[in-house]
Amino acid sequence: MKGLVTKSTGSWYEVLADDGNLYRCRIKGKFRTKDIKTTNPIAVGDWVDIAPEAEPYTAIIVRLHDRRNYIIRKSVNLSKQAQIIAANLDQAFLVVTLASPFTSLGFIDRFLVTAEAYDIPAGLIFNKLDLFSEEGMHVLNEYQSIYRHIGYPCYEVSARNGTNINIIKQLFQDKTTLVSGHSGVGKSTLINAIYPQAALRTADISDWSDKGRHTTTFAEMIMLPFGGRLIDTPGIRELGIIDIEQQELSHFFPEMRERMNGCRFNNCRHINEPGCAVLLALEAGDIAPSRYDSYLSIYHGNDTRA
Ligand code: GDP
Ligand code: ZN
Repeated sequence: MKGLVTKSTGSWYEVLADDGNLYRCRIKGKFRTKDIKTTNPIAVGDWVDIAPEAEPYTAIIVRLHDRRNYIIRKSVNLSKQAQIIAANLDQAFLVVTLASPFTSLGFIDRFLVTAEAYDIPAGLIFNKLDLFSEEGMHVLNEYQSIYRHIGYPCYEVSARNGTNINIIKQLFQDKTTLVSGHSGVGKSTLINAIYPQAALRTADISDWSDKGRHTTTFAEMIMLPFGGRLIDTPGIRELGIIDIEQQELSHFFPEMRERMNGCRFNNCRHINEPGCAVLLALEAGDIAPSRYDSYLSIYHGNDTRA
């Protein structure tokens, strides 16, 4: 029987099977992910085959279907190992606030580069619109124009007041969406505004399955009643940062990608080379200086995650 992994902890998985039931599952056998060593073989968003066990609604995961994409997080302690956060995503959105807390352009760019590297369409949701002063709105519009200009959709909402929440609902409808962002930007409030029962459901599930034992939830999928799935990653503030080769990096900046064929040297780093089409566009004001700064910062391995 085929099913979708809707929750993953270190030791067991919740699978929504084709028969419409939720199964509590364990793994039998080895599941390997090509090219990387992972701490968890199966992740939220994975499609699997399960074999039901004697006890009702328990099963064994016997097969992992091919993934369309997946995102990982590198383990802090075991640098050679990675944790798969989620698989088979349609899109990823970063929830951004310009005050309490402040989300830097560097952080936004790192998120977008990561999404590009995973080949996942990404966009920005600016939250706490109700808090913006006139000057704040000015900055907000400036930010949005930077990102819209290079093809990233931007939305402005107030999760608290419900402003533009219907637009976000449409955006998430029938898609599998990862929502990321600094702690405190309002992810929970936003999810709750879209689907008020979401928090309730999460509580139900953990009561039902944990039986008082301590388990870490890596990620959880919220089934939206109007169609679509949200991937909530508690305790994971940002989309997994992966190692990107220096010479690959400019491919993950759309405004550089579209210009670099015009560079004189085909191994141009876009740093100080003569005849660099990227530097030319930067000087002409066609590439945002903040974006170029982020490129340099990531290129040189500076951590701009804050
Ligand atoms: P999370 O850590 O991203 O899940 O953030 P929360 O949803 O817990 O929200 C953090 C704080 O921001 C809470 O006090 C929320 O009430 C507040 N908050 C969330 N959305 C908004 C909003 O649109 N406007 C205002 N003013 N506050 C908000
Ligand atoms: Zn160049």
